[in-house]
Amino acid sequence: MKILVINAGSSSLKYQLFEMPEGKVLAKGLCECIGIEGGTVTHKRPGQDDYKVKTPLDDHEAALAWVLKLLTDTELGVIADISEIGAVGHRIAHGGEKLRASCLIDDEVITYLESIVPINPLHGPPAIAGMRGCRKLMENVPMVGVFDTSFHSTMPEKAYIYPIPYELYEEKSIRRYGFHGTSHRYVSGRAAEMLGKKPEELKIITCHLGNGSSITAVNGGKVVDTTMGFTPQEGILMGTRSGSVDPTIVTYLQSQGMTAAEVEKMLNKQSGLLGVSGKSSDARVVCDAAAEGDKRSQLALEILYYGIKKYIGAYTAAMNGLDVLVFTAGIGENDRDLRRRVCQDMDYLGIAMDEEVNATCPRGKDADVSAADSRVKILVIPTDEEYMIALDTARLAAD
Ligand code: AMP
Repeated sequence: MKILVINAGSSSLKYQLFEMPEGKVLAKGLCECIGIEGGTVTHKRPGQDDYKVKTPLDDHEAALAWVLKLLTDTELGVIADISEIGAVGHRIAHGGEKLRASCLIDDEVITYLESIVPINPLHGPPAIAGMRGCRKLMENVPMVGVFDTSFHSTMPEKAYIYPIPYELYEEKSIRRYGFHGTSHRYVSGRAAEMLGKKPEELKIITCHLGNGSSITAVNGGKVVDTTMGFTPQEGILMGTRSGSVDPTIVTYLQSQGMTAAEVEKMLNKQSGLLGVSGKSSDARVVCDAAAEGDKRSQLALEILYYGIKKYIGAYTAAMNGLDVLVFTAGIGENDRDLRRRVCQDMDYLGIAMDEEVNATCPRGKDADVSAADSRVKILVIPTDEEYMIALDTARLAAD
């Protein structure tokens, strides 16, 4: 069965066409600058040159129309007709309290997703636009929603309820939801597979470290805690996000004349690696500046390493032990020095890295970088959220 995976952002739309169950990617691409000037579509097929076209993309439906046109094009396409697509899987950042597992998308699901836009204002509207666009252009093709929050829905109340008046949870749905769930689910499952064990047998900490970063504790296949919270703002320092800060900083700055929107922008877009280093939100740039002696870049990285270490300690305590530590996403998969620094002086927890293997393991491949005598396995696993979405979509569409 051919499965089209769609990931709609506010001004972008990523797509991948899979052949399932093989998991083979037939084509993938990216529509950029939707609804703004500079619309571009980049279409890729394995072993072929990329195709790039500049074209106005008025909305997500127009972008999808381009995707379908390219997929079925006689020269650039990989299928003869849209009817070959058996189902569409949508990446959806937020499933709220109700959508706790991947599901078929019907009117009721869309209505619920619309009702939670207030708690998901950035990612909700484009995802809904993507679903509506698909409905119009591929009327009878089943659609499946895969939610970034759903893997975290097993968290116990003590982990997801904030210690603020309980009515704010009941009336405004303010709680920890957690994000990047599809990535944490994929890498924790893959870690168990690599070790020849069942997820039920393992205590795993997964570190998804990219532009946005989150760390999750998975005990026996179930999430018990995660660093992102009501929004993706909570947790460790990220590219431009601060991660957790004393909330009084917000009210103090507002009392000093900043508006809520200005504080939000500062915490979301001007903080993290960018805010501390003053150089860039891109970890590579910050690492290069730090290597050349830039003090603030060195400090930004120290804060990041220290934050990750603290959560590893906290989550090991939360699970009363740790069997596997996983690094994934842009920084986790590629930044060998970060992995080395995070795992340094962690022998008390049974974490011992083989620094040579860590320094030489090929990028883009699963790797075990633990020392032979490490009690905890340290694994590097390239994440594959799209494949996970394709798997869920194929399963639910076949039911
Ligand atoms: P992602 O959001 O998963 O795409 O990750 C993006 C982040 O990964 C950016 O901060 C990149 O700088 C970072 N990244 C990618 N390659 C490397 C590398 N070789 N060393 C350090 N960071 C990297």
